[in-house]
Amino acid sequence: MGAFNLDLSSWNTPTTWLTFAAWFVVTYCYLAVGITGGYHRLLTHKSYKVPSWLRYFIVSGGYLALMGAPVSWVAVHRLHHQKSDLPGDPHSPRDGFEHALYKWMFDMEERQPIEEIKKQVPDLLEDKWLCMLGVDHSAKQAQLCLWVNIAVRVLILIAFGPVAFTANLIASILVFWSPQFVNTFCHLENWGYRTYEVRDGSRNVPWVGIMALGEGWHNNHHAFPKSARHGIKWYEIDGTWMMISFLEKIGLATEVVRPTVVSPEVIAKAKEVQAAMVAANAVVQTTSDSAKLVSTVPLVETPELELVKS
Ligand SMILES: [Zn+2]
Ligand SMILES: [Zn+2]
Repeated sequence: MGAFNLDLSSWNTPTTWLTFAAWFVVTYCYLAVGITGGYHRLLTHKSYKVPSWLRYFIVSGGYLALMGAPVSWVAVHRLHHQKSDLPGDPHSPRDGFEHALYKWMFDMEERQPIEEIKKQVPDLLEDKWLCMLGVDHSAKQAQLCLWVNIAVRVLILIAFGPVAFTANLIASILVFWSPQFVNTFCHLENWGYRTYEVRDGSRNVPWVGIMALGEGWHNNHHAFPKSARHGIKWYEIDGTWMMISFLEKIGLATEVVRPTVVSPEVIAKAKEVQAAMVAANAVVQTTSDSAKLVSTVPLVETPELELVKS
């Protein structure tokens, strides 16, 4: 069957399976860490610092997992933390399961216009390399990401053959869905458990925790948004935290933020801010115009430690 040998019976050899496994594991780790360690913990929450070359390398994995422009991804995720499970949350399952899973992606241009993005991510807009990938939710930046992703897979097929290509494709599909599963299952009642009584409905869901390299310990994350470590109990395995603490040990990651003990004063202050946010949302709930709603609700910085340990 030509250069690529599509006769499937010839795939069943130890070498083929080893090649498949190696490509699967490397692709999965590179892309998943790109989202969790790059787009999320590094760019959105500034949970740790790394040298520029490593920062762009880590972030590139998220782009090749079809996450779109880092600037717009971060803008969505910061909005999620500010409004989580309240009106204005870009992807709360309280607006429907399918909405939280994928439908939310299709009207973000209307719901989070460029003026809104500028307020959310002034830090990233100073980074010309990141801005080259797009600074809004336009179809143009999504198409650029899609074409780059297709081109890279075609190159893998040509250079390394169908076994590598298939392993890469399957790993990519799984990684693409893992943050969507975090958005959905980790905010759905009856899935997993809660350790901290934060104001939103976030939950720790073990299978998402494993699949999304630690992001499924999402209740912990909403409790300590800036922490580089999401898995807190011994059994809450957090692949991304393992990577960050390894980078810290070898001196490549610095200023690594860890969960902190909360003082009663901080909790009182956080509750005050939350009450103000809830009140603000209650007023604008009367409007049905979601675009207006997003821009009407004042942006309040989510307090870092807004929790009461249960
Ligand atoms: Zn969340
Ligand atoms: Zn987050």
